[in-house]
Amino acid sequence: MRTSQYLLSTQKETPADAEIVSHQLMLRAGLVRKLASGLYTWLPTGLRVLNKVSEIVRDEMNKAGAIEMLMPVVQPADLWQESGRWEEYGPELLRIKDRHNRDFVLGPTHEEVITALVKNEISSYKQLPINLYQVQTKFRDEVRPRFGIMRSREFTMKDAYSFHIDNDSLEKTYQDMFQAYCNIFERLGLEYRPVIADSGSIGGAVSHEFHVLAESGEDAIAFSDSSDYAANTEMAEALAPAGEKPTGTQTMSEVATPNVGTIEQVCAHFDVTAEQTVKTLIVLAQQQDDQPQGLVALVLRGDHQLNTIKAEKLAEVHAPLTLASDDAVKQMLGCDIGSLGPVGLTIPVIVDRSAAHLADFICGANKTGYHLQGVNWQNDVGEIQQADIREVQAGDPSPDGQGKLEIKRGIEVGHIFQLGDKYSSAMGCGVLNEQGKHQILTMGCYGIGVSRIVAAAIEQNHDKYGIIWPDAIAPFKLALIPMNMHKSHRIQEVAETLYEKLTAAGIDVLFDDRKERPGVMFNDMELVGIPHTLVIGERNLDENKVEYKSRRSGEKQLLDIDNVIRFIT
Ligand code: ATP
Ligand code: MG
Ligand code: MG
Ligand code: MG
Repeated sequence: MRTSQYLLSTQKETPADAEIVSHQLMLRAGLVRKLASGLYTWLPTGLRVLNKVSEIVRDEMNKAGAIEMLMPVVQPADLWQESGRWEEYGPELLRIKDRHNRDFVLGPTHEEVITALVKNEISSYKQLPINLYQVQTKFRDEVRPRFGIMRSREFTMKDAYSFHIDNDSLEKTYQDMFQAYCNIFERLGLEYRPVIADSGSIGGAVSHEFHVLAESGEDAIAFSDSSDYAANTEMAEALAPAGEKPTGTQTMSEVATPNVGTIEQVCAHFDVTAEQTVKTLIVLAQQQDDQPQGLVALVLRGDHQLNTIKAEKLAEVHAPLTLASDDAVKQMLGCDIGSLGPVGLTIPVIVDRSAAHLADFICGANKTGYHLQGVNWQNDVGEIQQADIREVQAGDPSPDGQGKLEIKRGIEVGHIFQLGDKYSSAMGCGVLNEQGKHQILTMGCYGIGVSRIVAAAIEQNHDKYGIIWPDAIAPFKLALIPMNMHKSHRIQEVAETLYEKLTAAGIDVLFDDRKERPGVMFNDMELVGIPHTLVIGERNLDENKVEYKSRRSGEKQLLDIDNVIRFIT
């Protein structure tokens, strides 16, 4: 590719609204452009990276025996009603109507569609197991899209779904997928960790997330310092020793008959003092017919970003809850968040009253007669989850009993689940078994955030000059930079010949043939993160040499022109 015929679109200034380095660099290096909140256009350079990630994912999926297919983005609501998720999923599910007033959704995931398909296509146990996947656009109306394509509303996911006659078969495919994911992240050249995870609103029991380790990660991961134990801290919390949790909690469904307690009683109940300062207040509103009903106030101390994430997680898992914006909170409470009084509950409380009463409680103006209680959460299959949100601390005992926990931050780039029969039962997806009887199938599902990986890779691979792509996903492998080519016939000739030879050798070359100063070219190629650079200059040409520079190590060396191809490949 020649820069003169390409859309490089680099920019010098760091965009003010980009908080994390990958978002900043993706904008500066001309990988993506924002169209609207959570919606991004992939520019040519970004698309090259995205495609390379997809190809690695495809290759490993194929090797593991999964079969590629493609399902529609738009899905009929009936399927979601059948599975029960039309009610369960909450506002992240974008619902639309067609011209006949029929309900549809923009698919945030495809369990319903694939289950309906397999129900029709597969009739005998002899056709099983089967593992089908796609690389496709998903839409989730995220409450707070942020960090560019890291948490966007439209994004690319690889999602696979496996179907089995029994759990042994599911377990085997799950292990194969686990291994395929390890292979993928190895090949991508990323530092990653599989961790035990909560299966959230997808359902099922066994689940692992794959995290790329990075300071900016939205998830906290707990590692044992003396075993292989690693878990998303949400999960580590659920597994934390029971003695350290607040007791006497009730489920969401029991809120109809709430305890009545004074603020002092509540504080005593949860062993917190009213003096602890409120730093962040997040209110979750229980929606019914788009109207906030009861309010769940989640008052958290400490890190704002972390708390926001935690609140979003809760809202996500507990579908009828939605996060209120700061403005909405202000409206509901009738006061500014900043003015809230010295109340420091670190656990969720349910307030089964109107917003006005909540305002009284939170502000501490009226301390009697409020319906407050700590809650456990009920998951979507009706099991009660111990989901108090005590944060796991570094130094806590590891839930596996071996050693102490260390906490690191991670970006969730993959998530695999053993779903069991959640969807197959609800939708009647079964086959004739060996005995000739109809039997409901058991399922697994396996997601990878293909587009998020691009951002995660940058979080792990950058310096002050720009991106440093791992070779496997670099938009171009090599930048060819002729110095003042337009003034030197000799340089032009060597550059053109090298470009031809390198391209013929199958190397992705970006040939910077612009009439730019060398400094401009170097800066652009470093910003874009091309792993290898060849500089063609007059002085080195006198000795039949060109200069090679590695983007990652910064090391330079002179190469004989005749050795270039061998060196690069
Ligand atoms: P998160 O916890 O970050 O919201 P999730 O648990 O909701 O992710 P899954 O349902 O497990 O996501 O989907 C599989 C993968 O899709 C995730 O592991 C993640 O890499 C990716 N993904 C999910 N939501 C987004 C998003 N809004 N933008 C980009 N990638 C996403
Ligand atoms: Mg999510
Ligand atoms: Mg998650
Ligand atoms: Mg997940």
